[in-house]
Amino acid sequence: MAATKQYDLVIVGGGPGGLTAGIYAMRAAMKTVLVEKGAPGGQVVMSDEVENYPGFEHISGGELATKFAGHAAACGMETISDEVTAIEPGADFHTVRLAGGDVLEACAVILATGGTPRKLGVPGEDTNYGKGVSYCGVCDGFFFRNKTVIVVGGGDTAAEEALYLAKLANKVYLAHRRDALRAGMILQKRVLDECKIEMLWNTVVSEIQADESGVCGALLQDTQTGEKRTIETDGVFIFIGFNPGNELVPAGTKMNAEGYVVTDEKCETRIPGLFAIGDLREKYARQIVLSAADGCTAALAAAHYVESKKASADACEVPADLLEDI
Ligand code: NAP
Repeated sequence: MAATKQYDLVIVGGGPGGLTAGIYAMRAAMKTVLVEKGAPGGQVVMSDEVENYPGFEHISGGELATKFAGHAAACGMETISDEVTAIEPGADFHTVRLAGGDVLEACAVILATGGTPRKLGVPGEDTNYGKGVSYCGVCDGFFFRNKTVIVVGGGDTAAEEALYLAKLANKVYLAHRRDALRAGMILQKRVLDECKIEMLWNTVVSEIQADESGVCGALLQDTQTGEKRTIETDGVFIFIGFNPGNELVPAGTKMNAEGYVVTDEKCETRIPGLFAIGDLREKYARQIVLSAADGCTAALAAAHYVESKKASADACEVPADLLEDI
């Protein structure tokens, strides 16, 4: 039977930001629950190797995510495995509705819903998803051992994934729409030094072709000359950025043109007691450490918010002994 439950804080999303918020919220003695519809860890789980999270020179994304989740659980954080369908802000408390029917009421809510990989939007992309089109090398790379793949993109993700796929595939083309990578210098050097990776500069994929067994080729277009050519490939891995997961962001919350939530330095939105953190929030860079930092900031700010809310509610309440005298 559907129930209504009260908390000080509800955290929506179990990536590095949400889990860090949970650790700090529990240490601030807030009654906290984290709601996550999938496995904990968020996008980080897809990273084969993380080399820039302080304290870990090399760790797989999956292991780092497990450590975050284990730490939050050890602090006593409650987790609900369900999908949030709506967040309704209120003056006294915010309401979080779950697909399973339960309703959570909380003084503060932290939105840590991350985002999803951006699509190319070309013919053959959707129809061949899972048949050679992929957005995750760690998940699908195994199927391309000793084969040929095209990686699309020029950022850190494309570079990392191209390097990962080069360990498995015979040949990796890295197609980038410009003549210089956006990825950091260390990754750029590794990509350019990897003999299995061939750069396709000034190149976009304009169509993904398939036969009955899946992807078999891609139509490429030169962004300078407009020239088109077809290349044979067994897979197309697309890493061209990210769409923020802003579906649950309530009306009245400010978002920028790209759909990232605008907050103040406490990660608080325009709605008091509603916080947005991690990849959902407008910020200069998107890194695991920055999501974790946002989680810390928002939880500390939420604790302060909850305390002042409770204090003002207590101040309004007429003490019971006083009532007897009236
Ligand atoms: P990103 O930095 O936004 O890079 C997206 C890449 O895709 C860019 O090179 C862009 O080209 C290209 N692109 C965008 N739309 C395209 C389209 N329609 N067709 C063809 N190419 C297109 O995204 P990301 O690599 O996913 O990284 C996201 C954030 O996570 C970044 O802040 C990144 O630093 C961070 N990250 C860090 C690490 C790490 O430090 N280990 C790992 C992964 C991600 P242009 O360059 O021409 O714009």
